[in-house]
Amino acid sequence: MTDNIPADHPRAQSLQLRERLIVHFREKIVAVSGLIAHGRGEAFDYLLGEKTSKPALKAISASAAMLLTAENAVISINGNTAALVAAEIVKLAKITGSKIEVNLFYRSHEREIAIEKLLKKAGASEVFGIGKKASAKIPELSSERRRVDPQGILVADVVMVPLEDGDRTEALVKMGKKVIAVDLNPLSRTAQEATITIVDNIVRSAPILVETAEKLKKQGLKKCKEILQGYDNKKNLANSIIAIEENLSKLATQTAHTSGEGK
Ligand code: ATP
Ligand code: MG
Repeated sequence: MTDNIPADHPRAQSLQLRERLIVHFREKIVAVSGLIAHGRGEAFDYLLGEKTSKPALKAISASAAMLLTAENAVISINGNTAALVAAEIVKLAKITGSKIEVNLFYRSHEREIAIEKLLKKAGASEVFGIGKKASAKIPELSSERRRVDPQGILVADVVMVPLEDGDRTEALVKMGKKVIAVDLNPLSRTAQEATITIVDNIVRSAPILVETAEKLKKQGLKKCKEILQGYDNKKNLANSIIAIEENLSKLATQTAHTSGEGK
């Protein structure tokens, strides 16, 4: 699927991700707005230097601890998440005992089924939120995202919402749920409203999250609780913004050193 992108192209990885989203758009898994959302994420990833920052690692560790200590955790899946990290999400759900629920801004039965199929191919045994199963409603939301599974998100204490938008995050928090978000934009309402915010590209953070959850599970619940007690999301979010600032300062210095070269 990425035959037309030369491996030595300086932006090969980024182009391959675009290609993957386009392929999944054609398969009706990704919505057209998902392509735009990815572009917004890419811009922030550039500012971050396309690497996982220390604050992101801290948020990943807290997220693994929160999923492992939850009574009833659900990982909410949209088109982009399914296209980019289906296999990692399935692994994460298995390790942490979380459910997987499909939740779409632009819900259609065709898309639900396509995403369910992809998740099952990636090894998911059960997928919540498909068809009539998504019969409950989140208060305060008007779109199709309002619909949730009464056995999934509706009764969850912890909901992980990779690549989610602000309204839905806010509504889930108002329902008393703890929300874990993955969002490259530390300024978005999602990033600001979530209980734990991982400011990183989902393709980099998902495998680290799987590995961290595996390790923490062996260390036990006491260790998880300690991590959560020492975690302050607002402070960590501020440090994620500082990580962008530091990267930009470094780039500004490098650019200044080349001053005059292009004359
Ligand atoms: P909000 O409604 O929370 O203020 P928004 O309107 O920017 O934010 P959307 O456009 O609905 O949110 O969702 C896209 C969000 O997902 C963007 O903030 C973008 O940074 C983020 N995003 C897109 N692709 C990725 C990715 N691969 N990894 C992490 N985050 C991503
Ligand atoms: Mg939005």
